[in-house]
Amino acid sequence: MALDKPAIFPWQSALWQRLMGMRDRLPHAFLLHGRQGVGKLAFAQAMAASLLCESPQPDGVACGACLSCGWLAQGNHPDFRQVEPEDRSEGDDEAGEGSAPKAKKKSRFITVDQIRALGDLVGLSSHRHGLRVIILQPAETLNANAANALLKVLEEPPPATAFILLTHQLQRLLPTILSRCHKVAMPVPNKDESLAWLRAQGLADPAFGLAFTGGTPLAALEADTVEVREEVESLTQHLKKGGRIDALSVGWARGDFATAIDILQKWMYDLSSLILAGSVRYFPEHQSTLQGIAKSVDLPRLLDFQRTLAEARAQASHPLNVELQLEALLLRYAQLFPSPARP
Ligand SMILES: [Zn+2]
Repeated sequence: MALDKPAIFPWQSALWQRLMGMRDRLPHAFLLHGRQGVGKLAFAQAMAASLLCESPQPDGVACGACLSCGWLAQGNHPDFRQVEPEDRSEGDDEAGEGSAPKAKKKSRFITVDQIRALGDLVGLSSHRHGLRVIILQPAETLNANAANALLKVLEEPPPATAFILLTHQLQRLLPTILSRCHKVAMPVPNKDESLAWLRAQGLADPAFGLAFTGGTPLAALEADTVEVREEVESLTQHLKKGGRIDALSVGWARGDFATAIDILQKWMYDLSSLILAGSVRYFPEHQSTLQGIAKSVDLPRLLDFQRTLAEARAQASHPLNVELQLEALLLRYAQLFPSPARP
């Protein structure tokens, strides 16, 4: 696997210095944990590049010019692996999800075979000057057998091998794995840092994406496309009407059901958050409209609708008829407002 562009983001520089100070007494396993979209993977890859580099710079950053850096950039470093859920074909998902799909798709799990395959790496002597680095992400996708296999490796750590585990959901990892890792909480940039960084990446109006993705800059950068803006704009225009929405006129030409569900879930989150906590997270620009329609909302129905959306999201990857399903959801949305919304 080729490394994209290992990067240390501004909000990570203090952490970077701290970890570089540990180079000479490296733990066998790091566990980087934190929210999605704060740059965990890029940071882990920068660490891997640094640890494998033959002449790192004074601040520890990989030189980018040595043989090892070249191998990493080309994706064929013999002492490096990045383990994550793989594309699978029929029948090779041992997690037992029941009906194995015929089409090739991304597995939801890291399998025990993937962990066993690491034995080939750590069992041999390393190709260069000693260290091998394994990134494993996200660690919450290890299925039970894979987690146990990894645990065995971590209990008797192979020499000169650094594991870097990543997780968005620390609470889903086995305590026995947690206890074998040096845990590192990945910093979350504050809003001003995020906005400044997004502006530096060339976004003219970074506040939109940052709010829409819940405040993490990398997710914001990815989400802030013309298409997403148009979809958000198009659907929220209708949702703003509350009980007066005309569900049959919405249309959804693009047909991306997952995006529609995402927008709906965030809209409902803000609506319930306004009622229960008096604040919004995703649509600050529509706060006053949300306040208006929140006055006539039936809260139990709203909470019930949120559960329906969560179920719809689980099936969002292969709906039969996107437009029909969305219409059905929006008809239910209209019923959340038993009395007409006051403007
Ligand atoms: Zn180098």
